[in-house]
Amino acid sequence: MYEVQGRTFDTDPDQARQPYRHPQPVDCRPEIVLPDAVPTDERIWVPTQENVWFRPLCLNASDGYWTTMLRVRKSGVLSRHRHPKPVHGLVVKGSWRYLEHDWVATEGAYVYETPGETHTLVVDDDVEEMITFFQVNGAMIYVDPDGKAMGYDDVFTRIDLCRRHYEAVGLGADYVNQFIR
Ligand code: FE
Repeated sequence: MYEVQGRTFDTDPDQARQPYRHPQPVDCRPEIVLPDAVPTDERIWVPTQENVWFRPLCLNASDGYWTTMLRVRKSGVLSRHRHPKPVHGLVVKGSWRYLEHDWVATEGAYVYETPGETHTLVVDDDVEEMITFFQVNGAMIYVDPDGKAMGYDDVFTRIDLCRRHYEAVGLGADYVNQFIR
């Protein structure tokens, strides 16, 4: 046994590798494991605007957030939007920037978008494709250049969009259910 900050841990490898031997809590929802977070099956990508797609990873209806891979190709623009809650992003491929900032998010970068931010995501002409993991909390409020609200997305509009897309491409509306928690 050894102790770190008042907690004790097993040093015996047989003990350390012994699995938890009780059932998970009854209200605990099943985990999601997607081996193809960046899928090759084109049908899984849900189009939202010209040259913009997302693929759902976790659509958390009970906690009001969603995680996705966002894919934007050459010259794509993700509509100007405001965040009431934080966003976490990790760039998996390519690069992108916001019209409102002077930095560029490049492959491997982590980005924190702070509540209250309004911005417009663009992919420049010299980038064939960018793919970024995003956790979006609450909502995205689409606004005009003066901040006037034009529309929104939340986890429920995302689920609805996925349902319609998967039905249309032949995967069936229920294909989205595996991502919902
Ligand atoms: Fe954003």
